[in-house]
Amino acid sequence: MSAEIQSQIPLAELTTLKLGGPARNYIKAQSIEEIIQGLSLAKDQKLPLYVLGGGSNTIFSDQGFPGLVLHIATAGIETIEEDETSVVLDVAAGETWDAFVQHCIAFGLAGVECLSGIPGSVGAVPIQNVGAYGQEVAQTIVSVRCLDRITFEQIVFSNEECEFAYRQSRFKSYDRDRYIVLAVAFRLSTVQIQEPRYEELRQALDPIDGQDSTQKRPEDRIDALLRLRNAVLALRKKKSMVVDESDPESVSAGSFFLNPVIKPEALAEFKAKMEQAGFTDYPCFESDNAFKLSAAWLVEHSGFSRGYTEHGVGISRSHSLALVNRGGRASALMELARKIQKKVFEFSGVWLEREPVLAGPEK
Ligand SMILES: Cc1cc2nc3c(=O)[nH]c(=O)nc-3n(C[C@H](O)[C@H](O)[C@H](O)COP(=O)(O)OP(=O)(O)OC[C@H]3O[C@@H](n4cnc5c(N)ncnc54)[C@H](O)[C@@H]3O)c2cc1C
Repeated sequence: MSAEIQSQIPLAELTTLKLGGPARNYIKAQSIEEIIQGLSLAKDQKLPLYVLGGGSNTIFSDQGFPGLVLHIATAGIETIEEDETSVVLDVAAGETWDAFVQHCIAFGLAGVECLSGIPGSVGAVPIQNVGAYGQEVAQTIVSVRCLDRITFEQIVFSNEECEFAYRQSRFKSYDRDRYIVLAVAFRLSTVQIQEPRYEELRQALDPIDGQDSTQKRPEDRIDALLRLRNAVLALRKKKSMVVDESDPESVSAGSFFLNPVIKPEALAEFKAKMEQAGFTDYPCFESDNAFKLSAAWLVEHSGFSRGYTEHGVGISRSHSLALVNRGGRASALMELARKIQKKVFEFSGVWLEREPVLAGPEK
């Protein structure tokens, strides 16, 4: 069966930010054949191609996308390996991430529970090594099966070959736009739940009534994983980090800026700037011979407060790193983002990198 090629399809509703104009061409691909059909169309007609998952990390520009938007809508979760302590599930790129997390929990499979409530598709999670509350997909991904956009061949990358780092991978760096993720294989534990790094979550895992803390019995594991999921969802809801139609503060792309990671050489300059400004209590964590700063702290201390609004866009009232659409346009959102980047740089000497992807012209 071949996919329907549609024209002038509105894109805003396909994203969590609800911004942007129409796609010149649009295909909803429900099989690998339909994905290849889309790739061929883009190649033959020399159309720019945008691969769309759940649209939760995408900003479409006001003019829309001047080429083909290939919406990945494949489905399927398959067990491909099983041993005494784990199973490997092969998951189609078009599956919804949070539905997959719920599937794992329902079967007592541990490893992705702290990533509950993150919107988007499974195919997008390896792109920026999705993470939250001490877990990231790099910890469970075994391999990523891709389609080469140039040769149309399938290729499997092992976890190591994906070169995962903090919100980073080969797919987001030197191989950006080279591959379409078709499926991701995850190894999940059937015996052990990793102790959460966050105190609020640790409390959720505390064994009730002296139950076995290794959670060897499936029903105990399911129960513990559910408690963790609910604790994560409660924390995320407080920050409007769960997409919820009744919460206008969740009309966002999640965190808009990455936490900056600076080299030891740059730390002295940053410290001097902070001292000059009268601050000594800034968050700064050492990891892998580099220093991770808090983008939220930098935004707040550069003169932007939660709830700030201009031209129909603004900063979430619940989270200073989330930019929200309050009825504005993509151009206004990008303008606000640039304004924040500039102010933060003037204040701290640190440049904040944008996390969501802009598709279509910037202005
Ligand atoms: C309320 C909210 C909370 C969030 N919380 C978090 C969080 O806690 N942690 C976190 O890491 N992120 C978070 N995000 C960001 C976002 O949900 C993730 O980045 C998610 O993985 C994006 O998935 P998507 O399918 O929506 O991607 P899209 O927006 O559709 O695409 C994002 C990028 O991935 C590419 N892509 C998508 N699918 C494929 C594919 N099959 N093959 C190749 N490339 C593909 C796109 O081309 C684009 O470059 C949050 C977002 C929102 C709105």
